[in-house]
Amino acid sequence: MPSHYDIIIIGAGPGGYETAAGAASRGLKVMLVEREALGGTCLNHGCIPTKCLCSAAEKIVEIKHAGDFGVKAELVSADYAVAVRRAADVMTELRDGIAGLLDCVDMVTGEASITDGPAVAVNGERYTADKIIIATGSKPAKLRCKGVEEAIDSNEFLKLEHLPGRLTIVGGGVIGLEFASIAAAYGSEVTVLEYCTEILPNFDADIAKRLRSYLGRRGIEIVTGAEVTEIKADKSVVYTRKGKEKSVDGDMVLSAVGRRPVIPNGCEAAGIALDRRGFIVTDEAMQTSVAGIYAIGDVNGRCLLAHAASAQGRIVLGEKPRLDIMPSVVFTIPECASVSKASDSTASVKLPYGANGKALASGQADGLLKIEYEPSTGIVTGCHVVGAHAADLVAVVSVAISSSMTMRQLAAEIIFAHPTLSELIAQAAASI
Ligand code: NAD
Repeated sequence: MPSHYDIIIIGAGPGGYETAAGAASRGLKVMLVEREALGGTCLNHGCIPTKCLCSAAEKIVEIKHAGDFGVKAELVSADYAVAVRRAADVMTELRDGIAGLLDCVDMVTGEASITDGPAVAVNGERYTADKIIIATGSKPAKLRCKGVEEAIDSNEFLKLEHLPGRLTIVGGGVIGLEFASIAAAYGSEVTVLEYCTEILPNFDADIAKRLRSYLGRRGIEIVTGAEVTEIKADKSVVYTRKGKEKSVDGDMVLSAVGRRPVIPNGCEAAGIALDRRGFIVTDEAMQTSVAGIYAIGDVNGRCLLAHAASAQGRIVLGEKPRLDIMPSVVFTIPECASVSKASDSTASVKLPYGANGKALASGQADGLLKIEYEPSTGIVTGCHVVGAHAADLVAVVSVAISSSMTMRQLAAEIIFAHPTLSELIAQAAASI
């Protein structure tokens, strides 16, 4: 193995492996170091297994609503263990696909650290590179309260083959709500305790509020403004709300209170600056405070999404993806999605799914689409959706935002097929 590379990447998650494959396809000499399985959190402990389980949960929900269409269907059984095993098969298939992508990359299995040079040390060898990219991701943050060892995190939750009768989830963010949707569909009694005054505090407030109401209708108990103080050995969770102490009984507690960066050894000694939350500080080119060392993905704390990590890797390779227009999706039932671009002033228009023919015809009238625009120009700046196919609707508006389209153009120039949910975009744009 050579001791000098064009690029050395630490971490084979979506940021690391896609950047490695992209660099190798440009003819660069690339080394990729990974201590665990290919695919990182997204493939092994995050997006992919969660999406598999979410799809299984959606089947259950569909069966429960078949009667609305006169289809007499009864849920005979829903074997969660089978869904978990199916997820493992999907993960293996995707991992094999990634290995294929990395044919021209020198893969090294081991724990890498940053060392003098700067260089990368792994398995007792030292390697240098024109560019070193840290793409080591993040891990679940630890809940801070008494009895925290009684709770499991999302990694452990994904290893379960059976769901508990009663599940208490601490944290009403993306992970907490995705698991709440899955467990509730399988019949668990779910309570979500969220510290902030609304779930999904980083999301559009109208969409979060609407989602809370839909999840409530699915039987998920959501308590906002709840400060968890203790988890007892019997898995009951004590919290305070509006100055009063309360508690919720349960069989299992899942902690989903954010994520922390995974910083390779040697970073601080090498002079790589961290921000006050412990994430690696990067400039617009994703370079750290040490020349020649870059950080992409969760570890730099800019945006904890798989596609953001890959896009940041493309920046290091000299491409110009629009990081300012970053869509995000929450795979609850129904799903939520959002995209927006910074703007000095925005106005918005909201449209319920019930105003759309396809939504009514397909029994998907639970939903809300909100489009944001600049009042002076009508230029579209954002879209936030809760409801069926939210992610696909937001993808359409992402294209409109990156092309600086106006609401008028969306309403009058673009022809959306009828009857489709995408007509909601034109309907909303036409209503201003
Ligand atoms: P998050 O930041 O989305 O949500 C954590 C929630 O926990 C917040 O609402 C916070 O207010 C709450 N919280 C924190 N401490 C609490 C406490 N002591 N008691 C009660 N509530 C508390 O974090 P997450 O859900 O762990 O997700 C981590 C990251 O991973 C996010 O940035 C998310 O975007 C990303 N992610 C994305 C996807 C996706 O794109 N579909 C899926 C999973 C995770």
